[in-house]
Formats: sequence, structure tokens, C-alpha cells
Amino acid sequence: MPTLDPSTPGNTRTCDFLVVGGGVVGLSSAVALAESGCRVTLVERAPGPGAESSGAAAGIVSLLYPWEYPQALQDLAAVSRDAYPAWCDALDAPVGWMEAGLLTFDGGHAPQSIARLDATAIAARAPAVAPPAATALWLPGVATLEPRRLAAALAARAATLGVHMRWGTVVRKLTVAAGTVTGVELDGGERLGAGAVLVAAGAWSAGLLASVGVRVEVRPVRGQVIELHGPAGLLDCVVMHGHRYLLPRADGRIVVGSTAEEAGFDSSTTADAAASLKAAASALVPATASLPVRAQWAGLRPGSPDGMPRIGPTPEIRGLWLNLGHFRNGITLAPGSAELLAALVTGRETRVSSAPFLPWAQHL
Ligand SMILES: Cc1cc2nc3c(=O)[nH]c(=O)nc-3n(C[C@H](O)[C@H](O)[C@H](O)COP(=O)(O)OP(=O)(O)OC[C@H]3O[C@@H](n4cnc5c(N)ncnc54)[C@H](O)[C@@H]3O)c2cc1C
Repeated sequence: MPTLDPSTPGNTRTCDFLVVGGGVVGLSSAVALAESGCRVTLVERAPGPGAESSGAAAGIVSLLYPWEYPQALQDLAAVSRDAYPAWCDALDAPVGWMEAGLLTFDGGHAPQSIARLDATAIAARAPAVAPPAATALWLPGVATLEPRRLAAALAARAATLGVHMRWGTVVRKLTVAAGTVTGVELDGGERLGAGAVLVAAGAWSAGLLASVGVRVEVRPVRGQVIELHGPAGLLDCVVMHGHRYLLPRADGRIVVGSTAEEAGFDSSTTADAAASLKAAASALVPATASLPVRAQWAGLRPGSPDGMPRIGPTPEIRGLWLNLGHFRNGITLAPGSAELLAALVTGRETRVSSAPFLPWAQHL
């Protein structure tokens, strides 16, 4: 079997890659690697795609407060945003894409170049909103999608490209010989060999990597959301205040998010979070006060310092690659991250500087 020489990013020979994780990051990586000519196997312990953080996400395609992030992350988000429409077109199923725009009352530190709306303009843009401040920021380029549909569509695309996907399959550990990754060992003892392994296991990545002596700063950060069902058209843009947002779907569903909790690997939901999210929604859009909570769910974000993902080969083990740590922005950053990863693997030019995302990059 031809293998990638993992010590040489930029190797363009046919390679075989084993991807651990069937969230949006693992799936988009598998698609990008397969499109680049790699033979790819993806292993996911859940029965289907997007079962963890990716399926729990609201689906805002934008950094929530872009100006608070390092420039490199803003650049990766811009490349992703640029790529998204064509990326979605290449998928066989619709992902609920909406050019919604975002109205935020949290713009205290935003640059003056972003449009500010006064009370009249706010009322025209979002009549259902009770403005908590005299002005708001309007970000017209913010889009939304349905993350579970995205994950399913990416899995279908991967299948079309010949990616072999093993659902309901737990990777127990990575296997390494003489400083080179050789594959993975599954629960039950079966070993899968591979020329290179990509860890895209979200919040669980640090544990998997620690077993082979690779340290990454990724921790679970729980996020909870509730879903309301209102009349279609009550809202037609995302609105945000006090780190709470309401995201409308075309059929009247409204996702209200989200909490950020240090709760370890506990992904249960709480009544307190539901009450807090409902109160925030009612304050910002009073017509939602009478809407029942139709659903509540939680996910564990792959929290990383500064929200900076790690993308690229590890220096410690040849053939071991990372695409992880997207924290609050994995849906937003998935296309750009997958493109960057595949460019590093095949030696193509990258559209953003890879340096800030490499596994050994230092973040202050
Ligand atoms: C409430 C909430 C709202 C969010 N809203 C947004 C948003 O609006 N926009 C946005 O951009 N981002 C949002 N996010 C963040 C986004 O969900 C994450 O950044 C993104 O989903 C991370 O994707 P991932 O594939 O790295 O992780 P995951 O989706 O968690 O996937 C990792 C996968 O690895 C699998 N896995 C782990 N260990 C193993 C193993 N040993 N063997 C086999 N499989 C394994 C897991 O089962 C899991 O499916 C939100 C997150 C939450 C929780």
C-alpha cells in the first residue's frame, strides 16, 4: 500500500489517511483529503455523523465577535465564508443555508467601520426586537445553516468520493512504531493500519493524543441551547445581546443559544440553562415569551486557547496530523480548515498563513 511520508508535509503521492472523528471537522477533512487524491478511512464511535458538538451547534457561519479574535483566525473565517456557497453547492443535499445577517447589541469593542443602526433602522430591520440599547451593529455577511444537515451531507459526499466510513467504532488508541504512526487500535482489539492518521476527535482529542505523548490544549466546554417554534417570519436575521442569540430557521423554529460551561465531559442539559436562555429570548424578542420550549440539547465544544484550532502535522510523531480545537467556531471554520489541511498534506499553496495554526505554534 503506498503511504505518505509523514515527515514531509507536501508529499503529493497517493496516501492513505485514517481520520478519527465524524464531526463536521473530521468529515470535511475526509472530503478534502479524498478530493486531493488520498484514500481515506474515517472512524467514528457514534452511529452516524455529527453526533457530538457539530450536531449541537446553532449554525451561525461567522465568528461571533470577530474583532475579539486574532487576525489569523479572522482570515481563516473569511476564507471559509468565501468557500461556503460553492462548498454547499457541491453537496448532494441542502443544508438550510440562509444569508440571514446578524444584528448585535454587543458591539462595544467593534471597529467603527462596521455599520451602526439607530432605533428607526433597528425597527425596520427587525421589528420584533425590543432594543436593549440605542444603537446596534449590523453584519450583513453572516449566514446560517443547519449543522446536522451539514454533517449528513458531508458524510454523503465523502461516501461518493469513496471514503470508507466506520460508524459505531471506537478508537481505543493510536499505534506508533519507531516514532511513526502506524494506525489505530479499536475497542475490541482490531488494528487498522494507515500511512497517516488525522485526529479530529473534538473535545476528546487531548485524551487520545496524550496516550502517545502528544499534548494539546483542548478541553470540553459545554454549550446548551433551546429551540422554540414560532410563526415563520417573526425574525429573519440573527439577533444577539449579552452573549445570547436567537437564530431563526425558515420554518419558524428559533434556536436560542448558548451557554459556555466548564462541566468536564458532562453533556447533560439543565433546567437553569433553559430558564436563562428563555428569559434572554423573551427580553430581546418579547413575542417569544409565549412560545413553548420544543427542545433543549447540549454539546461539548473543543475548547482551545484563543479559539485557535491546531491544523497540521505533529512534530513528535511522523504521520500524525491534527485538525481540532475549533471551540465556538467549528461550523464557521470547517471549509477553510479542511482546505488548509489538504494543502499542507499535498504541498499546495495555502490561502492563509499556516504558521499560526501549526500544532507547535505558540499563542499568547
Ligand atoms: C451549543 C453549541 C452551539 C454552537 N454553535 C456554533 C455556531 O453557531 N457556529 C459555529 O461555527 N460553531 C458552533 N459551535 C461550535 C461547533 O459545534 C464546534 O466547533 C464543532 O462542531 C467542532 O467540530 P469537531 O468535528 O471538531 O467536533 P465534534 O463534532 O465533537 O466531533 C468529534 C467527533 O469525534 C468522535 N470521537 C471522539 N473520540 C473518538 C474515539 N476515540 N473514537 C472514535 N470517534 C471519536 C466523537 O464521537 C465526535 O463525533 C457550537 C457548539 C455548541 C456546543
